[in-house]
Amino acid sequence: MARTKSARELDRMRESCRIVGEVLRLVGQQVRAGVTTGELDAAAEQFIRVRGGVPAFKGYGSADNPFPATLCTSVNEEVVHGIPGRRVLNDGDIVSIDVGVLKDGWYGDAAKTFAVGTVNAETQRLLRVTEESLERGIEVMLAGNRVHDISSAVQVHVEGAGFSVVRDLCGHGVGKELHEEPSVPNFGKKGTGAALVDGMTLAIEPMVNAGGWQVRVLDDGWTVVTKDGKPSAHFEHTVALVNGRPEILTL
Ligand code: MG
Repeated sequence: MARTKSARELDRMRESCRIVGEVLRLVGQQVRAGVTTGELDAAAEQFIRVRGGVPAFKGYGSADNPFPATLCTSVNEEVVHGIPGRRVLNDGDIVSIDVGVLKDGWYGDAAKTFAVGTVNAETQRLLRVTEESLERGIEVMLAGNRVHDISSAVQVHVEGAGFSVVRDLCGHGVGKELHEEPSVPNFGKKGTGAALVDGMTLAIEPMVNAGGWQVRVLDDGWTVVTKDGKPSAHFEHTVALVNGRPEILTL
């Protein structure tokens, strides 16, 4: 069962989610050829801590291989969970930035793929279609609809454009925990899945591959890459269902 949030709880989530949105804006201003993913990560962590938040991904996972950073920075064929470090971004790259913030016991989670300098037309189209698919998913997050209405809206838009949705990873409920029920796949059958009700808060996050949907995990235990080496994009918002309608909390 999804844990629904009261009006008061949503107010507190709005605060952590606002910081998430601000981090993505800040990082977006710093993405350029020559910057390292580690520099972006340091700026993001400092910003979150100054605002009284805690980076939600840092230390996440199993004790023997916890995620070591504030941001996931996934470049080109990296889908998600890329680890920031010395890698220098180059003109023509794309970089997916995923960030989670914990503040006063509540989580926010969002992601956006940025172009570094000038990227080719097909990659630009990948970014546009992925962002649009997130919008299509959010539009049908309506009271009375079902979770897989979101999934289907994302999948139909993506596949209609000739791209594919990652199957191995899903969106999710978010709130007191970073990952709550229900899971929100990016593919599925309309009219199925859990009912959407007021007070639900979902991280909707299409991960879209230019080529096939298959992915694998690198030896670092985190970085997910496309099997065919083609680029992948990722857009995510934390969205609340309020008065029957979607409210994007991480704008
Ligand atoms: Mg997420």
